[in-house]
Amino acid sequence: MENISRIKEKCVGCKSCEQSCPKSCISMKENEEGFWYPVIDEKNCVECKLCLKKCPVENIEFHRNKPKEVWAWRNKNDEDIMRSASGGAADSAAKAVLQMGGVVYGAAYDEHLMVSHIEVLDDVERKRIQSSKYVQSDLKDSYMKAKQRLLEGKIVLFTGTPCQIAGLYAFLGGDQKNLYTVDLICHGVPSPKFFKKYLEYQSKQMADRVIYFNFRSKDKRGWGTQYLLKTKTKTKTKTLSLDRYGTHFMDGDCYRESCYQCGYANMSRVGDLTVGDFWGIAKSHPEINSPKGVSSVFVNTEKGKHFFEMIQSFAEVKETTLEEGMVKQHNLISPTIRPCQRDSFYKTIDEPDFIERLRVGLRLKERIKGLIPTKIIQKLKSL
Ligand SMILES: Cc1cc2nc3c(=O)[nH]c(=O)nc-3n(C[C@H](O)[C@H](O)[C@H](O)COP(=O)(O)OP(=O)(O)OC[C@H]3O[C@@H](n4cnc5c(N)ncnc54)[C@H](O)[C@@H]3O)c2cc1C
Ligand code: SF4
Ligand code: SF4
Ligand code: SF4
Repeated sequence: MENISRIKEKCVGCKSCEQSCPKSCISMKENEEGFWYPVIDEKNCVECKLCLKKCPVENIEFHRNKPKEVWAWRNKNDEDIMRSASGGAADSAAKAVLQMGGVVYGAAYDEHLMVSHIEVLDDVERKRIQSSKYVQSDLKDSYMKAKQRLLEGKIVLFTGTPCQIAGLYAFLGGDQKNLYTVDLICHGVPSPKFFKKYLEYQSKQMADRVIYFNFRSKDKRGWGTQYLLKTKTKTKTKTLSLDRYGTHFMDGDCYRESCYQCGYANMSRVGDLTVGDFWGIAKSHPEINSPKGVSSVFVNTEKGKHFFEMIQSFAEVKETTLEEGMVKQHNLISPTIRPCQRDSFYKTIDEPDFIERLRVGLRLKERIKGLIPTKIIQKLKSL
């Protein structure tokens, strides 16, 4: 039939089609691996093809732009930068839009630590979308809500992975006057089911329920890839690459199938701004480097340029070259390569000891690096 069923494994799970079907015959269902895909009630489908029109996979060239400027960004607010993944650029964008009376959409944990996009209206909620959650965020009905807010004349900021931003533009039918978007440099997303199983495993290990998780904690070693989890009475910090979940997230053998053919892993960007970790900053501009983190901000559109000027006062900034911003950013050139281990990764996900049986990173170099404070690593790099 002439509908969304032809997208298959290219589907990024944005839910735009589900939110658009006039006959409500699309529902998003989890597959065995735990990723959402559309399922169509064929007998009610009238083949209007609206779902195809609203799908970012069918409309890949929606709102694509080459970066015009690249900046290093270090949020001036100490609390905000410490709670952010890198230099708190996405957070500054959110703060600015809220101060203008606007609405922000971003990824947050719920009470069970499952990740979904929420609507943010104040500073308390803004804190919930700070930092990276390395799992696919459930967009739920956030495109519909954003559309409603735009119709009300509100300023809207939407943050997310590039495919989520592309899904929003497809859903809205193009750019809108009061809409600003920030996409992330993205190497792929594991399934929410994998993350859920992992949290259950951690709760068992800690003999209590995990109630807090931060993939990018800076408390112990500063800017890097250390996670911090908490139960009511205990805390645990570890380097991601040495962890059962983190190893596989870093190695890329657990991503959604669409991530290995990602149409956004290049320099044709979707968002008005693109943000990432400025990993090469210690070498290229040590004067702005910080153990609290530095973001790279790619200004992709004229609107993005205007927006950057509006939010710039929240940070110390330094203009850089495109090449400097691209250091260690493979996903600005091409998608993550699909390793052969991906074939079998999710095969045993429903078995009770799935997490226990996962390979843990034992790479010596990473282990030694994990023991050295980030400050010293950055000093060594700058030499
Ligand atoms: C799955 C994933 C893969 C990434 N891969 C890379 C990479 O390869 N290289 C790189 O430089 N950076 C990558 N990032 C981005 C990086 O982790 C930081 O988010 C980025 O540097 C911005 O940091 P910040 O301090 O400006 O953001 P903060 O101020 O901490 O704000 C975080 C922002 O990220 C959004 N966000 C958090 N989790 C998710 C999620 N699961 N889905 C959608 N949006 C989310 C929030 O809505 C918020 O706007 C990735 C992020 C994610 C979520
Ligand atoms: S073709 Fe039309 S009716 Fe059929 S699933 Fe798509 S949007 Fe719904
Ligand atoms: S990419 Fe989005 S719109 Fe396209 S089929 Fe998947 S969920 Fe539907
Ligand atoms: S790698 Fe591409 S397809 Fe996968 S989540 Fe990121 S932007 Fe979406």
